[in-house]
Parts: sequence; C-alpha cells; structure tokens
Amino acid sequence: MSDTIETDVVIVGAGPVGLFAVFELGLLDLRAHVIDILDRPGGQCAELYPEKPIYDIPGLPEVTGQDLTNNLLKQIAPFDPQFHFSTMVTALERLEDGRFRVETDADEVFITKVIVIAAGGGSFQPKRPPVPEIELYEGTSVHYAVRKIEAFRGHDVVIVGGGDSALDWTLNLEPVAKSVTLVHRRPEFRAAPDSVNKMWALEKEGRVKFRMGQVGSLEGADGQLSKVILKGAEGEEVLEAGRLLPFFGLTMKLGPIADWGLNLDQNLIAVDTEKFETSEPGIFAIGDINTYPGKLKLILSGFHEAALMSQAAKRIVAPGERIIFQYTTSSTSLQKKLKAA
Ligand SMILES: Cc1cc2nc3c(=O)[nH]c(=O)nc-3n(C[C@H](O)[C@H](O)[C@H](O)COP(=O)(O)OP(=O)(O)OC[C@H]3O[C@@H](n4cnc5c(N)ncnc54)[C@H](O)[C@@H]3O)c2cc1C
Repeated sequence: MSDTIETDVVIVGAGPVGLFAVFELGLLDLRAHVIDILDRPGGQCAELYPEKPIYDIPGLPEVTGQDLTNNLLKQIAPFDPQFHFSTMVTALERLEDGRFRVETDADEVFITKVIVIAAGGGSFQPKRPPVPEIELYEGTSVHYAVRKIEAFRGHDVVIVGGGDSALDWTLNLEPVAKSVTLVHRRPEFRAAPDSVNKMWALEKEGRVKFRMGQVGSLEGADGQLSKVILKGAEGEEVLEAGRLLPFFGLTMKLGPIADWGLNLDQNLIAVDTEKFETSEPGIFAIGDINTYPGKLKLILSGFHEAALMSQAAKRIVAPGERIIFQYTTSSTSLQKKLKAA
C-alpha cells in the first residue's frame, strides 16, 4: 500500500536550486518535500564536480560543489525539509480540488498544492563506453565521476576522453595517482585550451602519459581492474591500470516529466519570468530545467528564480493572505523562523 503525504509543496530535484527553494519557501511558511533520483543532495555540484571550486557564487569567492551543497543544507535546516532520495517522480495528475497527486517509484503518493520542478537537465546518466564486460568493474575500479580524490591515490589511473572532465582530472589526479595515462582518439581536445596546454606540459616532463587510441578490453578479477588493453593505430598496448575513468559525456533524460503535458522547448520547460510558472498553473520550473529569453544556466540564476517562484507559490497555498516583503536582517519574525532549529 502507498503512503500518502499531504504537503504545501513538492520539489522535484535536490540540486542547488531545489535546495535553495526550500529556504525561500520556508521564509514564507511553506513546507516542502524534496524528491531526487540520486542518493544524495547537491545535483550536478555533488555528482559531477564535488571537489572542484566554483568562483561565481555571490559572496563566496571560492567554494567546492560539495561545500556549496553542505552550506545550503545548513541554511535550510531550520525549515526541516523532508528528503526522499533514490526516488523518481513517475506520475502526476491534477485532482478535482485543484491540488496535485504525485506518485513515485518508491510507492509514495504526495498530495500537494504546488509543484516545483528543479530537475536540472533531468536525470543524468554517464554514457557507458562500448567496452566488453565494463559493468563488472563499475563502482569499484571503473568510475564515471570522481567523488573522492583519495580513492585514486597510489593507483595507475587511465582516463579516457577529450573534454573538460578528462583533462581536468588528468591534471588534478596527477599529484596523487601512481601514474596517469590520458587516452583519446586524436591529439586534439574539446577541453579548455589552458587545461590542454597544462596537460602537454606535464606530458613533456614525463609526469602524465598520453596515448592515442581506444580502450579495447579490460583485465582483472572480482571487480578489481588490473589492465587496460588499448587499440591504437600501431596495434595493441597493455597498460597497468587500477582505476579507469571514462568521460564520454552524460545523457540527460527528462524522463517522465516529458509526459506531464507542460510546454517544452528542446526538452526544457518554458516559463514566464515573473513567477517561473509553467504552462500549467501551480507547477513551477526553476534552475537548469527551465527556459526563457536570456536564460543563463547558472546557479545564481536559479537562486533568483527560487525567490520569485516562492512568492507566487505562497499566493496559491494561502490565497488572500497578505505577503509582506521583509529583510532577514531586520525582520524579527523571519529571524525567529531561522532560529527555530
Ligand atoms: C563541470 C561543471 C561545472 C560547473 N560550474 C559552474 C559554475 O562555476 N558556476 C555555476 O553557476 N554553474 C556551474 N555549473 C552549472 C551548475 O552546476 C548548474 O547550473 C546547477 O547545478 C543547476 O542546478 P539545478 O538545481 O537546477 O539542477 P541540478 O544540479 O542538475 O539538479 C537537478 C536534480 O534533479 C534530479 N532529478 C531530475 N529528474 C528527476 C526526477 N524525475 N525525479 C526526481 N529527481 C530528479 C537530479 O537527480 C538532480 O539531483 C557547472 C556544471 C558542470 C557540469
């Protein structure tokens, strides 16, 4: 039997924008449940670049993806958001009383007045390279993202790809790995020229290796990789390898959201810029998932969108209630809410 949860707002996506929405909604006394397919909060920041610095968050000159996530969690703690991780929203329907019924694959049902889609690029999955039996090593020796640099310390690391992730991790893992070999089909890269220059400089000094070719097969036992066999123009080469990082890009799948009858523009959800509401009243879309003229896919844009969306959400949840604009610095009532934790 499904659990039924009644709430003011359901937020789909616990990326930075979904997390900050909890804060803005909370200031207006709106309670939120947050659902995410991933097993942790932080979206792209936590999944794709937890240890890389971000330099354009206002007031934080340098903050890693994971630290930004941790700070957001601290900031929203007073509002006690209820998280539902490893859960995908599968169905959505409007009830006769105007509220929404949201179903998840974890057999939960939410009855909510407002839905906030903060689903980023949708659910992202790394593209798996066509290497036989690669799945046997996934999660142990083969990784599609670097969650902890320490997991690579002292290992022979083979990195495959020609984009920013491949080049960035070649540079970042060089000081900790036993060896780093970058493999790409050609000696030209799509990555930032500065990273490419740095990589060639390290290669010249003999600190990283570059090989032109493709991964043909893997050798190892019990999920532990020992060798990567490369196929190059000059035949096969066997590389010692304890870790393999293939960076073949991500497939962003909008998933069931695509079937919710919202106006889409190239798989993004069209919204207005006053409330960030979709074509369906009561359903808002904020962060990377939305589109409007001039949209910039930046975290700070999503934060602004969350603030304006919250004002509109309040009018739906508590129609007729006067919304008083207040500063957190000077409003004792807001400060009380923030100290409630
Ligand atoms: C390498 C890299 C570097 C970047 N650097 C910067 C930078 O320096 N500055 C900057 O401003 N931006 C940067 N960005 C962009 C920034 O990460 C995004 O703008 C930001 O993450 C968008 O936040 P979001 O919350 O909208 O979406 P996301 O971070 O994508 O989070 C969306 C969440 O929704 C979940 N989700 C999706 N569909 C469903 C569903 N159906 N059910 C449940 N959950 C779902 C996903 O699992 C995900 O956790 C960078 C991005 C990358 C990849």
